[in-house]
Parts: sequence; structure tokens; C-alpha cells
Amino acid sequence: MISRFAKSFLLTVFALFIVTTLALLHPPSRAYIDPWTGEFFGEGGVEKDVHTPRPPPIGGVSGSVIMPKLENATAKAELGRATWKLLHTMTLRYPETPTQDERNALASYFRLSARLYPCGECAAEFQMLLKKFPPQVGIYFSTAPPIFTCTQTSSRKSAAGWLCFLHNQVNERLHKPEFDCANLDATYDCGCGDAPVSTKTRVADPMDLERDTSKDDVTGAGLIKGGR
Ligand SMILES: Cc1cc2nc3c(=O)[nH]c(=O)nc-3n(C[C@H](O)[C@H](O)[C@H](O)COP(=O)(O)OP(=O)(O)OC[C@H]3O[C@@H](n4cnc5c(N)ncnc54)[C@H](O)[C@@H]3O)c2cc1C
Repeated sequence: MISRFAKSFLLTVFALFIVTTLALLHPPSRAYIDPWTGEFFGEGGVEKDVHTPRPPPIGGVSGSVIMPKLENATAKAELGRATWKLLHTMTLRYPETPTQDERNALASYFRLSARLYPCGECAAEFQMLLKKFPPQVGIYFSTAPPIFTCTQTSSRKSAAGWLCFLHNQVNERLHKPEFDCANLDATYDCGCGDAPVSTKTRVADPMDLERDTSKDDVTGAGLIKGGR
């Protein structure tokens, strides 16, 4: 026989056990953010991700050459001419005063090009050249002369001059004549006389009643009904 005291003690313990179990199993009644993990718990305990997904960091910028050797000399020369045209035109249209993001983009572009250039042996040489004369994206200390400088990607003039110098390094290795970098503008029709390229997209004014809604605002292409 158990005493009345023991009976009520056991009953209390049992009741506490039931209450604790229910509290642990029952979902939170309100949405809250866990202060420790930052995780979001919605109604009914359904976990939601409140963190906006971050784009993966740009990978593959550094690494060894990807393409094999390009044996065909004619293809190699044609590829070279076309590539130089693209690269020089790009630096000649590069912003006069680029943002840090634009500077990073240019540097990444060159590093990726040096990995993916379709002529493997040319790419290997290009990588070595970039190692020696890297596309600097920030301020660095130059020993000759001993000053802090920020070149290569810091302006259109710097980028174009740097690439001209790199091309001349390749010319020298291939026993080609040196190009006078003062003639860049005269040699490349970069379309630099065009109206300045705006980096911002024009926002159409919905209150502009004279706006032609049958055409795309950006491209001017005709739109079919319901296409807007
Ligand atoms: C990154 C890279 C690496 C290469 N590596 C090799 C290699 O290892 N081996 C190989 O055989 N080929 C290589 N090539 C190809 C080579 O550089 C030439 O493109 C190719 O031999 C054709 O030469 P080209 O005489 O027609 O003139 P290119 O050198 O192609 O030049 C085209 C035009 O650009 C102008 N130009 C010349 N020099 C400059 C300069 N410094 N700045 C601005 N404009 C200039 C001239 O008007 C010239 O006619 C490489 C090309 C590139 C882009």
C-alpha cells in the first residue's frame, strides 16, 4: 500500500511529464526568428529560409589552362587577330572612371580569358604575362618609382595602354614589330564618338500618355498584343 503523500507525488510527477512532453511536441504558436541561429520559424513550426539566396562566388578565375594545343597555324593567327580586336576595342570603350565592381570585372575577364583562350599554348603564355603584369584592381606600392599607384584597370586610358603593352610583349616574343601605342585611337574604330553608354536602364513613365506602347522601350522592336 502506498501512502497518500506518495500517491500525490507520483501524480504530480506524471502531470509534469505530460505537460513537458506536450510543450516540446507542440509547434510554436507564433512565427519567430531563432536568436542563436537566425533561422525563421513560421506558423505551425514550418521552417522557412528568410536569407535571400546569395549568388555563388565567381569561381574558376585562377587555375591552369583548359584548352589543348592549337596546331593549325592559320587558325591560330586568325583567332589571335580577332581576339586582339575584341580586347583592344573593349579597353577603348571601358569607362573613363570605372567603379570598383567594373574594375574587378575587367580583371576577372582577362584572367578567365587567359584560362579559356582556345589556343592552349597561347593561353599558357598569356597567363605568364598576366602574372608578370597583372590587371591591378586596387592601390598598390610600386618600387620604381617608389609611390602608391593604381593602374591597369583604373581608367580607360590605363586599361588601353596596359593592353597595348601586353600585346607588344607578345609581338616581341613572336618577332613582330612593336606597335606605337600612341596610335591606338587611330587604329581601332571603337565607336567612342557615340553618345555615352548609360549603365542605367531608362524607366518608362506610366503616366506618359504619348508613349508608344506598341514598341519595346529599350530595343524599339514591335510588340504583339499582350506582350508587355
Ligand atoms: C593572348 C594572346 C596570346 C597569343 N599567343 C600566341 C602564341 O603564343 N603563339 C602564336 O603563334 N600566336 C599567338 N597569338 C596570336 C598572335 O598574337 C597574333 O594575333 C597572330 O600571330 C596574328 O598576327 P598579326 O601579325 O596578324 O597581328 P596581331 O598581333 O594579331 O595584331 C592585329 C593588329 O593589331 C594591331 N596591333 C599590333 N600590335 C598592337 C599593340 N601592341 N596594341 C594595339 N594594337 C596592336 C596591328 O594593327 C595588327 O595588325 C596570341 C594571341 C593572343 C590574343
